[in-house]
Amino acid sequence: MTKQRALIYSIVTTSQEHLSAEQIYFLARQQMPGIALATVYNNLNRLSRLGLIARIALSGQPDRFDKNPAPHEHALCDCCGRLDDIADGSFFQVLQAHTQLELTGYELTLHHLCSHCRKG
Ligand SMILES: [Zn+2]
Ligand SMILES: [Zn+2]
Repeated sequence: MTKQRALIYSIVTTSQEHLSAEQIYFLARQQMPGIALATVYNNLNRLSRLGLIARIALSGQPDRFDKNPAPHEHALCDCCGRLDDIADGSFFQVLQAHTQLELTGYELTLHHLCSHCRKG
């Protein structure tokens, strides 16, 4: 692993949030000021392909990167774009059992208003 890739991997895996590439770039520059945005994108693609992190594609929003590559469920706030884990993949197991399909992957994102936005 290159120094750049190790830094990007550690940013994704230590974050409590599901960061976009731009956010990861911003954090990476604080530790490695010369790093290029293209380097961040390339390494995120590579880490996702290797299955070390997960890429979450969202319609109308930049992709997010997840330290947990195992199938699990998310909730997206339609107001502020906050993305949270809401379950541990149990729906995946339910679907696997019910459909009898050999499922290879799973993406489920529920849309809602988070508690912060509900107040506002
Ligand atoms: Zn919100
Ligand atoms: Zn997640």
